[in-house]
Amino acid sequence: MIPPTRQRPALRFAPSPNGLLHLGHALSALLNADMAKALGGRFLLRMEDIDLTRCTPEFEQAIYQDLDWLGLDWERPVRRQSDHLGDYRTALDSLIERDLAYPAFMTRGEVKAHVARQEANGSPWPRDPDGAPLYPPVDRVLTGDERRKRMEAGSRHAWRLDMGRAIKQCGKPLYWTETGDGDTGEIAADPQDWGDVVLWRSDAPSSYHLSVTVDDAGQGITHVVRGLDLFHATSVHRLLQTLLGLPAPIYHHHRLILGPDGRKLSKSEGDTGLQELRRHGQTSADIRRLVGL
Ligand code: GLU
Repeated sequence: MIPPTRQRPALRFAPSPNGLLHLGHALSALLNADMAKALGGRFLLRMEDIDLTRCTPEFEQAIYQDLDWLGLDWERPVRRQSDHLGDYRTALDSLIERDLAYPAFMTRGEVKAHVARQEANGSPWPRDPDGAPLYPPVDRVLTGDERRKRMEAGSRHAWRLDMGRAIKQCGKPLYWTETGDGDTGEIAADPQDWGDVVLWRSDAPSSYHLSVTVDDAGQGITHVVRGLDLFHATSVHRLLQTLLGLPAPIYHHHRLILGPDGRKLSKSEGDTGLQELRRHGQTSADIRRLVGL
């Protein structure tokens, strides 16, 4: 049972145009559209294209074709993240001003080496819910002077959330309403499990966590329908929403479509790609059946 909202429901499908859509995306897109219809709401689309090195206009066009073929109709214009970099920067600046974000200078290799050194001493390094090592507290303790010097010297850096300070500033336990295929009800958010998450990458503008939070509010999204692989990330989104004064949508994390090896589908898997299935004569009704709708 999906609770109604005071404002007109709005749902979104938010693919990254860095590859072709597969059956997992089809389930997500169809569920979003079906639920929007059932709620008498809007169905929106968002291109998550901040990583300009991997996203291409060709993939974006292929996504429109696949969704059209699935029989979906979405509101225009489509929101493109690359059109909203200023919004993400404003959100980042408001966190920097409150001392909740710091410049992070360690490269991936340096983080790896740091973690390996610590683990060689026998203490396992903490990992986030996706299994990645937490960012070491090395840059967080730099003085303002040291930070300034390194930035003025042109040191490449990302911006990371100071998770401890952010949770403290938020000052209250956070929850979200969940209606999906895993745990449901009021779910307690555990943002500390993610450590100092990246807010602004060193190699691309913004980050997944920051832009998704700003965009869901910017598009007036009332119900976030997405895969269970993003269930735990919601803890970070709830924290950022609270710090940035943005509303909390209802969340519905749906089951994932797994490949024959029991793993999540990837964009390179040709045989579950929608284009490939279409070429082999499958219809959109077949796709609905294949994803169990
Ligand atoms: N762009 C993300 C993906 O393709 C989805 C993000 C979201 O739904 O919050 O996995």
